[in-house]
Amino acid sequence: KRLTVAIDGPAGAGKSSVAKLVANRLHYLYIDTGAMYRAFTWAMLKNHIDLADTEAVQSLTDTIQIRLEPAAEYCRVYVGDTEVTEDIRTADVSSHVSPVAALAVVRTKLVKLQRDMAASGGVILDGRDIGTVVLPDADLKIFLTASVEARARRRYLELQAKGSTDTLEAIAASIAARDDMDSHRAVSPLKQAEDAILVDNSQLDLQETADLICRIIEE
Ligand code: C5P
Repeated sequence: KRLTVAIDGPAGAGKSSVAKLVANRLHYLYIDTGAMYRAFTWAMLKNHIDLADTEAVQSLTDTIQIRLEPAAEYCRVYVGDTEVTEDIRTADVSSHVSPVAALAVVRTKLVKLQRDMAASGGVILDGRDIGTVVLPDADLKIFLTASVEARARRRYLELQAKGSTDTLEAIAASIAARDDMDSHRAVSPLKQAEDAILVDNSQLDLQETADLICRIIEE
């Protein structure tokens, strides 16, 4: 049977890298829901829309076209005809995304899109509220987490390889701030679903985590 798999967890736990690996191995479709919130945030910034301007936010949710296109190793992301795959990963988008993702109108729009994309089965979605809100009846739910230190260290090495000069402390602070906002918002806060399997990968690398999750799926 081709399952519906939900992977939730805090920022930097490696959800998307692991989900991609697992999806490739099992020939499942990978759906990066964080990329959708990032794409919406990118459009807010590009159009200079203020969070408090409810009319402008509503009108953007009515018109925006967000599309994920599966590619070999990742998801290409489009807003309308513009590819934003790289642009949604900037520090600017990362620092603005949590308050945007806390808006109920935005979530309503994107959750509907996510449910439509998942309807076929054989899918892995990663996010914050997949097991609790988007797909409460998912066949398998994983809550993937790691210590803040482990998550910050990984992100630091990743960014350093790209030539970034961000310090480990700054990255840890930004990850902790995002977790805090995501866990304490009124709508769909980040939390482990009651029937989710907890995987702490502080001591595991990407491959080991993917192996573990593939084993759980194939059980
Ligand atoms: O997964 P990623 O870190 O790219 O997600 C970016 C942000 O999008 C998160 O910090 C969170 O605020 C929001 N998000 C969400 N619900 C999801 C996925 C992401 O609120 N299902």
